[in-house]
Amino acid sequence: MLLFIGGLLFGATMVYLHMWGSTVVRAWEMPTGPGQMQSSVSTYSMAEVWTQWHPEGGFSGAALVALLYGILPAGILAIETWLLLPTVHGGGPVSRSIRQAFSATTSCVGVVFFLTALIGSVIVTVLNYLDANDSARLQGYEFGLVILVLGGLCLQVAWVSRAARAVALPQEAVEFPPRCEKCGYDLTAQPEDARCPECGEFVAASLSPERRPGVGWQRSMNFATGVRTVIQIVLDQEKFYRALKMHVPREYGERFARPQAAVIAVLSAGWLAAMLLHDRYVSFPEFPAIPIISGFLITLCCWGIHRLVGAAVMSWWIVQGVLPSSDWGRAIICYESAYLWVLAIYNGFLISTYMMYGEWITDLTTSIGLPRYMIFSMEWEVAVLLGGSILLIVNWLIRYRHAAAAVRWSNY
Ligand SMILES: [Zn+2]
Repeated sequence: MLLFIGGLLFGATMVYLHMWGSTVVRAWEMPTGPGQMQSSVSTYSMAEVWTQWHPEGGFSGAALVALLYGILPAGILAIETWLLLPTVHGGGPVSRSIRQAFSATTSCVGVVFFLTALIGSVIVTVLNYLDANDSARLQGYEFGLVILVLGGLCLQVAWVSRAARAVALPQEAVEFPPRCEKCGYDLTAQPEDARCPECGEFVAASLSPERRPGVGWQRSMNFATGVRTVIQIVLDQEKFYRALKMHVPREYGERFARPQAAVIAVLSAGWLAAMLLHDRYVSFPEFPAIPIISGFLITLCCWGIHRLVGAAVMSWWIVQGVLPSSDWGRAIICYESAYLWVLAIYNGFLISTYMMYGEWITDLTTSIGLPRYMIFSMEWEVAVLLGGSILLIVNWLIRYRHAAAAVRWSNY
């Protein structure tokens, strides 16, 4: 009910902003003789805009805007709820976790509303100002507006992540009988010096704490162990998950995952700025804006892809009952955030070569007789970027499978 009212209120705000934006309109006319383009500014009152939008007093402009902005947030809320599911799930009924994730998502509706009203007002004011005055004076203002919107989105994402961690359900009590690390056979009734009846592994070897000594990050959480952990997860996944202690608080994984997207974004933005400086784009008004916009976009992409793949994998694990504890699933998702570096380096490397050598892949493919465009009239450069990223994400799903298999029968 509250949400319905919120949706209505949000729609009404957007209508108001759109109408406000229409109060100042600059119309351009083609010159009849030689000379510059002529423009004239018309200003309207809100009431006039309202009648403009309702030519026959019927269903039009305002209702359409309200409908569009009512459906859009509803869709975003639904998707975000699913993305936050791995964070809040505690092994109990999934419906309860969904309710909890939904409450985390909606907890920031007020903030989003406030930000929309604020940022929207700024945008409309600037646009109206530009329409009413000579717009040449404020060149590059669109970049400022894009930065504002993307920054608002990043803030919202950080807010819901925080809210989800705050309302995360505690792990339901799970029985952990001693298991054979290799095959999962229940070793409860087996003597210490026996072998696993299923696969022949030594019982003592499975139950020895040295089997899972923990990783560097679990001994000391600092910058150096963080970097080493990222490298180890990417290059030697199997060894990492075979050593990772699973019966530990959530905090270890979460603190590892939290900074990844932001660090990748800052480094990428810095790299892009260096590339632009090198190519002497400095004098362009867009120069400082482009790295900042890219930084925000990369943050959102990293967050979105990590959460999306994580939510898909977690949903699969819940349905199939793959892992004994949802805390373990969450831990794997957190540590797999290291793989974002692979995606970032692949994309960053390709884009850098495009900036330095232009369309070198198209040059290469046309020189060996391939057509200029691939399917959907996509340039080769874009196709390689997208195709490679999709392959890397498929590989990520396979990695999740291996990770789950490596920790599934953990005794420690
Ligand atoms: Zn066994």
